Amino acid sequence: MTDLVLLSGGMDSTAALAVSQHAGRLGAALSIRYGQRHAVEIDHARAITEHYGIQHYILDLSAWGALLSGSALTDPSVDLPYGHYAAESMKATIVPNRNATFLSAACGVAISLGHDQVVTAVHAGDHAIYPDCRPEFIDALNEAIALGTEDAVHISAPFVHVSKTQIAAIGADLDAPFELSWSCYEGGALHCGRCGTCTERIEAFRDSGVPDPTVYQSQAA
Ligand SMILES: [Zn+2]
Repeated sequence: MTDLVLLSGGMDSTAALAVSQHAGRLGAALSIRYGQRHAVEIDHARAITEHYGIQHYILDLSAWGALLSGSALTDPSVDLPYGHYAAESMKATIVPNRNATFLSAACGVAISLGHDQVVTAVHAGDHAIYPDCRPEFIDALNEAIALGTEDAVHISAPFVHVSKTQIAAIGADLDAPFELSWSCYEGGALHCGRCGTCTERIEAFRDSGVPDPTVYQSQAA
């Protein structure tokens, strides 16, 4: 009864990994390379797995990502929007059908590695613009995966009804190594402090009262 945690290297999946460890279920972590602008997150994911002393698997879906034009995360010709996540402009950061792709692939890997659960850190703040982060999608996919694998593996989304501010607090309680995590979509040397995911990260630490270990290049007021 062990988990394969989908670990992007961001603070949500870092906290999800801490939750899995706390539950005594932590098996291994899987990160996915999909041609993302911020591939530096994979290095952070590796550091997080080293912190926990677990195996880190990397699935290379770069060829899939290369066919996804039109998303600011995979298409260098599309500008990254700045501002708050809930804004309409953030739809440019949607990677089409990403979670169905990642979770399906991860479930196959989990079965092969002998894990019976895949953990995803989708959270309530993602619902507004990312349809594949909503509870009804996770439930439906879970049902499909159960049918397709004769119940060999399930998807757990511990934060699907939890806000990012609550995730910061839960992670801090469990000593999640947030200082090793990476959120910024820009993928520069420092967190930019202005993109949607930086904005969310700043707010989550501020609103939860958890000290923010991040150095930001600049910070929107
Ligand atoms: Zn940023």
